[in-house]
Order: sequence, then structure tokens, then C-alpha cells
Amino acid sequence: MPKVIPPAPDPDEQYFWDGVAGGELLLRRCAGCGRLQHPPSPMCPQCGSVDWTTQQASGRGTVHSWIVSRHPTDPDDAARVVALIDLEEGVRLVSNLTDVDAADVANEMAVEVTFREIDGTRLPQFVPAGAQQ
Ligand code: ZN
Repeated sequence: MPKVIPPAPDPDEQYFWDGVAGGELLLRRCAGCGRLQHPPSPMCPQCGSVDWTTQQASGRGTVHSWIVSRHPTDPDDAARVVALIDLEEGVRLVSNLTDVDAADVANEMAVEVTFREIDGTRLPQFVPAGAQQ
């Protein structure tokens, strides 16, 4: 069984995965009031609009909180750092921190997005800011 289950986006999530395929972290912006909405929803919670545009995120953010996740049935698998990332645009998303030792992770640390091919699926991941060449 693959370690990553490929995303099966619904119509409200397709933009996000299209962005990932193109190496962009896209955010959904309400065409009615301009609110950024993540995770996506069919209707803007602020103004009720169902019209959306997208904007490319800078990819920069900070760690809001994080955990070390160990696989329940494959204990030999490497543990993953799962984090809540506050993007500088003002929305929060769940991702993994990679290329960093869990002992070096701290709340508020600066991170940036990268895109990695994991078990055949391209995923957005975050690394310490400035760590990418
Ligand atoms: Zn709105």
C-alpha cells in the first residue's frame, strides 16, 4: 500500500492541487469581499459569495504549533513533523516540516514551502526558511 494516498480533490479543492502540480501554493480569495479562505469552502463565510479567484502565496510563514507523528502500524518508519503553518497572507494550513530535526523545531520558527515527490504524489512541504538552495 502506498504511504501517500493521492489527493482526490472535489471541485472546491481542485485549484489547490493544480497549483501544487505547477509548483505554486495557491490560496482562494473571495471575489465578493476579498477574504482569503483556507481550507476552501463552497461559500464565503464572510459575505456568502460563491465566486472565487486564486492568488499565489509567497510560501513563507511561521510554525504555529506542531507534533511528531509516529506511524501506528509501521513503527520503523521515520517519524514526521506535522505542523500548523501560519502563512504571511494570514491563513493557516496543515503540512509537514521536512529537512529539520524535530529537536530543532519551535513555535514561531520561520519556514517556507517546497514541493516534494513522495511515493509518487507531489505534496507541498515546509522547510526552515533559507534552507533551500
Ligand atoms: Zn466574501
